[in-house]
Amino acid sequence: MKLHEYQSKRLFAAYGVPIPDGEVATTAADARRIAEELGGPVVVKSQVLVGGRGKAGGIRLAQSPEEAEQLAAAILGMEIKGLPVRKVLIDRAAHIAQEIYLGIVIDRAAHRPVMMASAEGGVEIEEVARTNPDAIKKVTIDPYLGLRSYQTLALAKGIGLKRELFRPFGKVAQGLYEAFLAYDASLAEINPLIVDDEGNLLAVDGKMVVDDNALFRHRDLAAMRDVDEETPTEREAREAGLSYVQLDGEIGCMVNGAGLAMATMDIIKHFGGSPANFLDIGGGAKAERVATALRLILADENVKAVLFNIFGGITRCDEVAKGILAAFEEVQPTVPLVARLVGTNEEEGREILAASGYDLVAAASLAEAAQKAVAAARGELGA
Ligand code: GDP
Ligand code: MN
Repeated sequence: MKLHEYQSKRLFAAYGVPIPDGEVATTAADARRIAEELGGPVVVKSQVLVGGRGKAGGIRLAQSPEEAEQLAAAILGMEIKGLPVRKVLIDRAAHIAQEIYLGIVIDRAAHRPVMMASAEGGVEIEEVARTNPDAIKKVTIDPYLGLRSYQTLALAKGIGLKRELFRPFGKVAQGLYEAFLAYDASLAEINPLIVDDEGNLLAVDGKMVVDDNALFRHRDLAAMRDVDEETPTEREAREAGLSYVQLDGEIGCMVNGAGLAMATMDIIKHFGGSPANFLDIGGGAKAERVATALRLILADENVKAVLFNIFGGITRCDEVAKGILAAFEEVQPTVPLVARLVGTNEEEGREILAASGYDLVAAASLAEAAQKAVAAARGELGA
């Protein structure tokens, strides 16, 4: 479960991390009132559960309450990466002298939390990791010993902070780690942690992801769950009973069973392609559900080919084949299709597809199916 910036920052603040004064507004009039109360310039910040809001125009500086009202009205009407903005955070504006990155994630290989810091704050850490990995300093936290002060000192020195900031930086780092632990987080991040023109540290952004399996221990958080966390596509998938995760590849995958879906993605990669999605259509695979799945896959404009990989067990291949045809009635396929159907009633299933008149490329094995799908996506399959 992802928490909004304002939620994350309030939790961090409860553990001693300094944050700007501010309040959340759902209307432009509210935004104006909050700006009046704060006095002076404010930042109007869209609260959506995606990164890069700044670049998308979802974070704006307002010099007056009137301007805050106008900007809030504009931002509340925006959609950022498919998510509608329903709340804005009005924070007292900070004078930024320096932007730092500070975050904690679980390092699965080390089986421990790792704290990362970088002097290149304000940009996405993945970007820094790609372009300038040496700029990221890391310490691994022993859960029994906790975060030690020599570790935060090493980070502070490593990113070139001034000596007088060593102590306050240590306090922020400890606070962040305590919040991370207390809420069973898988990620806690401040980006940027700023140094203001008076030399004080301030967390102007915050992000926290809490392990869903631990939510039963945090009733207070469960109430914070935001229904807008899902993109419209993910919501449609969930309501149709599909497990769907959109990725950025070019081969749409329609598979029954989560394990088979994972294996399908792996083998597509193995043959040099890349999957456009993870999709488990589940058992039974009724026509309606297959149609919804196909619509979701084809709505992704990156998709250059679709691979149907169906294993018939209790689910019968002929039934799935009928589902696929019924789906075609509703959603006209616009890209090459490769189908592999094996298991219960596979013969009947293949006959149904072959007799349909649709141009489906048949494959007998998973390897063959993946190779054909990769070729089709490259426009190299002369079908
Ligand atoms: P993100 O784009 O979703 O990561 O949102 P952030 O909250 O990190 O804001 C993006 C950028 O806006 C920051 O890196 C800052 O450069 C700038 N920003 C955020 N808050 C303030 C502020 O109070 N004052 C000023 N001058 N800039 C700010
Ligand atoms: Mn940020």
